[in-house]
Amino acid sequence: MEHDNDSQTSALKSCKRCGGTEFGHGKIVGEGSVYPLKARFAIGGSELVLEFCLDCGEVDSLRVKAPHSFRN
Ligand SMILES: [Zn+2]
Repeated sequence: MEHDNDSQTSALKSCKRCGGTEFGHGKIVGEGSVYPLKARFAIGGSELVLEFCLDCGEVDSLRVKAPHSFRN
């Protein structure tokens, strides 16, 4: 269950909750997708990418995968 293809793997940071140093990445799709507030239809949305502690599940970061698509 490694995601080492993602070049930005955790650089020696530690979980603020449990102190663990192993982080994983995941994405939120479907109900969790983010869309522009003005969007009337689910077009142009983006997945959310989560980085979280593999020990306790504390989410370290949450970002929109394709922020550019929110520009006009
Ligand atoms: Zn943790």
